Amino acid sequence: MRFSPGTVKQINLLETDIGRPLSNISTNIKFETIIEDIKKVLADGSIITKEIETNNGKWYQIMTMPYVQQADHKNNGAIITFNDITELKKIQHELNISNKMLGMAVESTEMGVWFVDMKTHEFNPSVRLKALFGFYPEDDMTYEAAVAQIVSEYQPLVTKAVDAAANFGEKYDIEYPLRGFHDGKLRWVKGIGNFVLDNEDKPRYFTGVLLDITVHKQDEIRKNDFISMVSHELRTPLTSLQGYIQLLTSNAKKTDDTFSVIKLDKAHTQVKKMTALINGFLNVSRFEAGKIYLNEQEFEMNDLLNEIVKEITPTIANHNIVLLPGPPLSVKADRDKIGQVVNNYLSNAVKYSAQGKNIEISCKKLNSAIEVSVKDEGMGIKLQDQEKLFDRYYRIESIDTQTISGFGLGLYLSAEIIQRHRGKVWVESEVGKGSTFYFSLPLS
Ligand code: ADP
Repeated sequence: MRFSPGTVKQINLLETDIGRPLSNISTNIKFETIIEDIKKVLADGSIITKEIETNNGKWYQIMTMPYVQQADHKNNGAIITFNDITELKKIQHELNISNKMLGMAVESTEMGVWFVDMKTHEFNPSVRLKALFGFYPEDDMTYEAAVAQIVSEYQPLVTKAVDAAANFGEKYDIEYPLRGFHDGKLRWVKGIGNFVLDNEDKPRYFTGVLLDITVHKQDEIRKNDFISMVSHELRTPLTSLQGYIQLLTSNAKKTDDTFSVIKLDKAHTQVKKMTALINGFLNVSRFEAGKIYLNEQEFEMNDLLNEIVKEITPTIANHNIVLLPGPPLSVKADRDKIGQVVNNYLSNAVKYSAQGKNIEISCKKLNSAIEVSVKDEGMGIKLQDQEKLFDRYYRIESIDTQTISGFGLGLYLSAEIIQRHRGKVWVESEVGKGSTFYFSLPLS
């Protein structure tokens, strides 16, 4: 009967086609059921939707519906609309491929996958995820049921991590042990998750993956136990060595034997260095075993910094350490451990800068956090090394650093301590000019 101009463009209908029987009209659409569909629409008034491909690779969504005239409410024919969905089909096809690839990757790594709708609290675990928690594929595993399988000491860690990710946008990347529901087996897993935000930037979905890391974790636990045992054993003889040195020093002082006093003082320094190194290892193994607890108390940051500077200044002959004046700032944290971080930053500033250089410590308030910095005029750090500095055992290999001893643990431990306090560590540095190491802590 008639067609709109769009149809001419889309499916090659011609003016001369008007009035001809449909069976005689050829278009570029392979719409074999058109007559059948129209008959059905005329007969029962239904609406038929089909997706059809053209000869030249385009896709149309074709809808056949009754043509009802307002006046008599009678079905006078059929309207057929052609909607170009080529782009949509292309995207769908690409999505299918990437979904298939993702599925293959997920299967090959034996990852469990989950999905939580934050509005409806609907929890969708994959079959593999259920298996990691010891559930059968046909079991209905709720979020609460999954959490209940986590070893109880770790449950607060997991719920806190989810909370921190949802409310503060923090990275969700944690390791924890769980016990299988049916098999009762202990498994260590690593969960990595992500929040998908809605239009108002509020968390809408929580999705992520879960990996079985039991074998790796058992190796790590054995290694940590070994390190912690060896460090303990090494500390005992060092303590008695220290005792003997003190005894000999007091004897040498009595007899005015200055030569021995000087040499014993050097021996004392070396023993202290070795004790610090061993303590570093011991701390790492404790941290990794989760055995370090924070003893949090309210304290004044400037008082702590003052104390540390007073303590360290007599032992540092060749650098000029200055504490810049700042306002009183109170924090609730583990005072000793924060002191350990400041000491690490300070001893690095001394270690990695030339004699006679200045080192500045300062402390200021930044919004709802307090920021402490240690600035040196040392060798500086290349950009590519800066992000790895806080990794375990990471040391920069260069001609300048090869004579400086260390195990690459100080900054790793510092970062661990600050992160447990919900704070942040970072560095700003320029090669040849110097570095400033920072940490921030939430204000009380
Ligand atoms: P360690 O000093 O025992 O090697 P750290 O974890 O304290 O271990 O430091 C890691 C690395 O970071 C060091 O090996 C050093 O290369 C670099 N580094 C740390 N502090 C500074 C600094 N103030 N200036 C330049 N380089 C630094």
